[in-house]
Amino acid sequence: MDSHLKSQVVFHLTGSRPPAEDSQVAIADLRPALMAAYRDLDSLRYDFPVVFCDGDDCVQSLSAVVDRVLRQVAPEGVPGEAMRRRVLALETGIRRRVAAGSGGRLGESWDIVTEALAAARGEAFVADLRLAKGALEVDGELAGCDGELPAKFLRHAWSVVQREKARAARGRIDSLGIQLDEILRADYMRSEQALRQPALKASFGAAQHELFDFAAMSKILQRAGRRGGLGDRRRARIEQSKAALAAQRFFAPVDQADAAGDTHRFSFDDLASALAAFRERLPELVALLKALQVAELEVEGAYVEELHDTVFAAFDESALTEGDLQFFPDYLVCLDGRDKGDQSRLSEALSSGVPLKVVVQVDDLLEESSPGKGNFAFGLRSAQLASAAMSFGEVFVFQSAASNLLQLYTSVRKGLHHRGPALFSIYAGAAGALPGYLVSAAAMQSRAFPAFTYDPAAGPDLASRFSLENNPQPERDWPVEKFSYADRELQAVTEDLAFTFADFVACDPRYASHFALAPRVSWGDSMIPVARWLEKPPQDAASGVPYVLAVDDGDLLCRLVVDERLVRLALRCREGWRRLQELAGIHDSRAERLLARERQAWEEERRREAQPAAPAPVPEAAAAAKEPAAAASVPAAVEQVEPERNPDEAYIETIRCSTCNECTQLNPRMFAYNENKQAYIADLKAGTYAQLVEAAESCQVSVIHPGKPWDPTEPGLDELIERAKPFL
Ligand code: SF4
Repeated sequence: MDSHLKSQVVFHLTGSRPPAEDSQVAIADLRPALMAAYRDLDSLRYDFPVVFCDGDDCVQSLSAVVDRVLRQVAPEGVPGEAMRRRVLALETGIRRRVAAGSGGRLGESWDIVTEALAAARGEAFVADLRLAKGALEVDGELAGCDGELPAKFLRHAWSVVQREKARAARGRIDSLGIQLDEILRADYMRSEQALRQPALKASFGAAQHELFDFAAMSKILQRAGRRGGLGDRRRARIEQSKAALAAQRFFAPVDQADAAGDTHRFSFDDLASALAAFRERLPELVALLKALQVAELEVEGAYVEELHDTVFAAFDESALTEGDLQFFPDYLVCLDGRDKGDQSRLSEALSSGVPLKVVVQVDDLLEESSPGKGNFAFGLRSAQLASAAMSFGEVFVFQSAASNLLQLYTSVRKGLHHRGPALFSIYAGAAGALPGYLVSAAAMQSRAFPAFTYDPAAGPDLASRFSLENNPQPERDWPVEKFSYADRELQAVTEDLAFTFADFVACDPRYASHFALAPRVSWGDSMIPVARWLEKPPQDAASGVPYVLAVDDGDLLCRLVVDERLVRLALRCREGWRRLQELAGIHDSRAERLLARERQAWEEERRREAQPAAPAPVPEAAAAAKEPAAAASVPAAVEQVEPERNPDEAYIETIRCSTCNECTQLNPRMFAYNENKQAYIADLKAGTYAQLVEAAESCQVSVIHPGKPWDPTEPGLDELIERAKPFL
């Protein structure tokens, strides 16, 4: 083994490197090779910044807004080219401004950037940009893909949805109020009081005052017709409902929708305040619901006192349904992912039946487990929050990286319209050397934080409810992209490059200690791309090392050796991704197992058919012929029977193994083949219980039985034991 390989293997297995070999600081300055193309992100047109505007399409990318302007002011081809270039330069200027933290409204930014460019570009330039501004169809706050985006985005989308709700609710309330008024007025008009001379005269216009004798008219009318009509109880009931409708504080008047005024607030920064507000307002909510229902019955003339008096007397908070609550505004709670206390109260809140829309911002997926020692763990709590929320059944669950929010806007709206609680778990990307958009996109690409939605209203089964949304290449473990570079002879080379969890970690300078820079002279066959290593680790762990491809500031290619702890985390990340794939029906292990069994049965059937038929035995010989055959089959059957096993111990039904390589690839030290090329457990303690369970799940013929864990300190055992149950 040459000295380079030796020190790389030592680093890979132990994480320790020769003191002067390479500097972590230099590694922290590198970025994954696939990100080389995004070095000047602001010069590219992409989804950000976004513009928060009104209406159905309430979040739009700046590029889409500018494209619409160009369609109006820049004719196709050469005549519109100058205008097109000027407006695109302005778009870049606005994008750079937002990236530098100066957002503001689009219209204002347009003017500021126009002014800034004026000195260098001249009057014609400014005139074109002013003309183009006239074609702007929307205006609103600009927002980049940074740590503030999740709360801003959800608050804006939520306020648009609540405004729609409020408009419909106010329409219903105001219309009922008017109709109740009319009933009361009609009743009054028939009352004795209304028919007295002064009131009667006042109800006519001044022009008629000299034409009629109101004293005579009053006498005639009082003699004719019925007095009143409503009765005291009904009148009181209608007046009460009318007063309750007028006093409600859930919906602002339509023309004051944006003014807080006397209306309740529904947006909170912590769960406890939102839940307390909901409970405190319950009596008001019940009163308004009752008033609405009574009013509707009264307007239709369908109120039956003998029946409805009892029903409404018994109507209280316990009678509220999800449908009732859906009429009211939802409670928006934006949680900072760093507050673990609020996260632990989340499950209670989501299952409380309160119409909460909770946004959990996840800032960091990697957690330092031993500060200063370079040990870290995949931030399970954050990444698994949404998966856990799916177990509540009726909760709408949405998970996505912030970079993908615009693409998933329709799903966000669905969640905000969902009758019942909804959870939005959004990764915003830890602040670091790379722009937030790139870190966030890398989390989704690398399966560290995949996007998915669980919509309980979408259908009765998982197939209709669960969607992996727009994760790239969802059928693969890791997405693969073309990567082009120049080799040592300066020849262009293009190869497929997978973007793995290790690449995502390489974006984070805090974890540079998990990588070692490999000198060019050491590049050889013993260095294996990490995606290939994860797919098929070598039998001999000391025969090579996994690496990720990175680039430095000058776009020079580098190889970074990955340490074993990071490889283990990458495997764990892949496990999580595979579970999501299964939920989405991709590589469904049960379906694949069934398929393998059917294929095997079909092949055996074909084999049997291909064998020549045995000659029919003569009658006398038949009995004798049968006996040896039966006798021969007994030892054969005895050979096929596995010994009685203790279900607590891990074992493989070796004789049923179909040699598919799944388990031996997963951990070649734990699983090995015997002389018949069938798998057995070679060394149980050469791997984790997690690997054992994963092998059992991926075994196509279900012959791996994981038993009980042998190491009680292994993390995540509760979940693993649950997963192992079907294979015991
Ligand atoms: S996964 Fe199952 S079938 Fe495949 S090699 Fe291992 S034991 Fe055999």
